[in-house]
Amino acid sequence: MLRSPEILTDPGTAASALLHGTAQAAPAEAPRLPQEPPVHLTDPVTRTVIRIQGTMLATARAHLLGAGYTELLPPVIGPVTDPGVRGSKQVDVDYYGHRYKLMSSAILYKQASLLAFDKIFCIAPCVRLEPLETSNTSRHLAEFHQIDVELAGAGREDAMRVGEDLVRAVVRGVVEAHSGDLERLGRDVSALLPLLDGMFGSMTHAEAVSELRALGHDQSADAEIDWEGEALLSRQNEQPFFVTDYPKGSRGFYDRESRTVPGALRNFDILAPEGYGELCSGSEREHEYSRIVTRMRETGENPAKYEWYLRMAREGIPASAGFGIGLERFTRYLAGLDSVWQASAFPKVPGEVTP
Ligand code: AMP
Ligand code: MG
Repeated sequence: MLRSPEILTDPGTAASALLHGTAQAAPAEAPRLPQEPPVHLTDPVTRTVIRIQGTMLATARAHLLGAGYTELLPPVIGPVTDPGVRGSKQVDVDYYGHRYKLMSSAILYKQASLLAFDKIFCIAPCVRLEPLETSNTSRHLAEFHQIDVELAGAGREDAMRVGEDLVRAVVRGVVEAHSGDLERLGRDVSALLPLLDGMFGSMTHAEAVSELRALGHDQSADAEIDWEGEALLSRQNEQPFFVTDYPKGSRGFYDRESRTVPGALRNFDILAPEGYGELCSGSEREHEYSRIVTRMRETGENPAKYEWYLRMAREGIPASAGFGIGLERFTRYLAGLDSVWQASAFPKVPGEVTP
């Protein structure tokens, strides 16, 4: 089982004790899983976290709208969805006799939206039946939300700057409005302050692999950074940082392959520090019809399934870059929570059958 961030070995309990005014008492065992809705929702920790999350959403919206982005609401069901690559399963829905899917992300509709608007964002639910081994990562939910951004005519570096600015704006908004709440939750606010001024660091996937190997972690050079490696890398840092150039095979067909370094993808993640791990994934997109079809085949996807999307791509979709930030993961990092389910009003932990 992965360890929680070192500074927060038992923050759920600590936060709960602080907010219940029982901080001096021997801490009760932290709940490993969410309680039923009435208990979970009315817990002072949940109530505080949800208020902080409300400020995060309002700040993200204000920041993006102020920068000229249009917000739109993507569909919840459709004939196909983001295929994902880390073993999560999609959920089927019977749509008038057709097998539709619940959206695992808004990626296909984000690209479509650029036909009407150059800069878009959406805040949308994602459903992924994550594998059971993720039930104790503290980072996975079967239902979560993304702040999803896409920019026409942009490259990876543009999207990285937009992501960095957005993270910074949201952290600033929360620190300004909720420093008392954060302290009551046991979050060390001073740990968040340096990111308000400094640039995020950056390393390539290859550099991340070397660093992990030097730390004694056996990370494959050709694959996604595994859960344990991600937490380890995150613990080496005190501020959010980028990892770029993940290898082909680790990501979906829509991450654009470098034209100069075959096999490297023009993508990036933002990892939170202190052990919290991945906050955001983004990339320059494949947008040319023939490249998309090739990449679909290479990633084991059947192009025939993606009929509407490929029809649109054949007619022409704009070149673009974008990213998705996991709202609950971001909340967990900001509020210093032990587990990501504490950042959801109605949490669904993988494998746990809850309301
Ligand atoms: P992805 O495109 O799969 O990287 O998802 C985008 C972002 O959504 C990630 O960087 C995470 O912050 C968040 N995310 C992805 N999967 C989950 C999950 N199972 N539970 C909570 N957040 C997630
Ligand atoms: Mg990712």
